[in-house]
Amino acid sequence: MGGLREQLVLRNILFVGDAAGLTHPITGAGIPAAVISGERAGQAAAICLQQGKPSALDDYEEDMRDQFEVAINRAVERRRWMAQQWNTEPAQQDGMHKRGWVAFPDYFAP
Ligand SMILES: Cc1cc2nc3c(=O)[nH]c(=O)nc-3n(C[C@H](O)[C@H](O)[C@H](O)COP(=O)(O)OP(=O)(O)OC[C@H]3O[C@@H](n4cnc5c(N)ncnc54)[C@H](O)[C@@H]3O)c2cc1C
Repeated sequence: MGGLREQLVLRNILFVGDAAGLTHPITGAGIPAAVISGERAGQAAAICLQQGKPSALDDYEEDMRDQFEVAINRAVERRRWMAQQWNTEPAQQDGMHKRGWVAFPDYFAP
């Protein structure tokens, strides 16, 4: 179902992008989060090494959670809910949605 990793920093390893679980669990979009987290992790690593501040790694984790955790948790919750709804009558009748989104065969129907 996706979702943020339990720890984004493991000893001296920083997890970013898909590896951090920052990809949106419903849409699959992960490029912006990968760029943001990659840049931020690079800054944290530089501060840690150049200034001798290991706490910069914890700051990275805190910053990422502040930016992404609420939205990702909500999306995980919504995806679980959607997975339970696909075979229900209202979802099956959602013709407009199916004609409008490329993932459904109806999209390609004339
Ligand atoms: C088909 C598809 C369509 C997508 N469309 C979109 C979209 O429209 N918009 C969007 O926002 N997101 C989209 N995504 C998601 C997006 O591609 C990812 O979220 C994003 O690329 C994650 O970036 P990343 O740097 O975390 O990982 P990646 O881009 O996967 O980079 C990881 C890199 O690490 C390399 N690697 C792996 N193992 C090792 C190793 N042991 N040693 C060295 N290198 C290694 C891999 O080869 C890879 O180059 C799509 C994904 C897919 C699969």
